[in-house]
Amino acid sequence: MSNRIKKRFIAGAVCPKCKAQDSIMLFFQDNIEQLECVQCGYHESQPQEQVKKASREQEQVIGVFKP
Ligand SMILES: [Zn+2]
Repeated sequence: MSNRIKKRFIAGAVCPKCKAQDSIMLFFQDNIEQLECVQCGYHESQPQEQVKKASREQEQVIGVFKP
């Protein structure tokens, strides 16, 4: 039984390859976010470094904003 990895669908997500909607699964493997399309087999991994960097840039933008 290899039921360790929890997979869930992303509501409203569109596959960049086959353009199918609600067919993208999200799951973590080795602490890396993986996206997989159940329709065409499209696969994408997003290293956490990129996610951290993106959120840090957002924080900077928020910090700069002063009314
Ligand atoms: Zn697809």
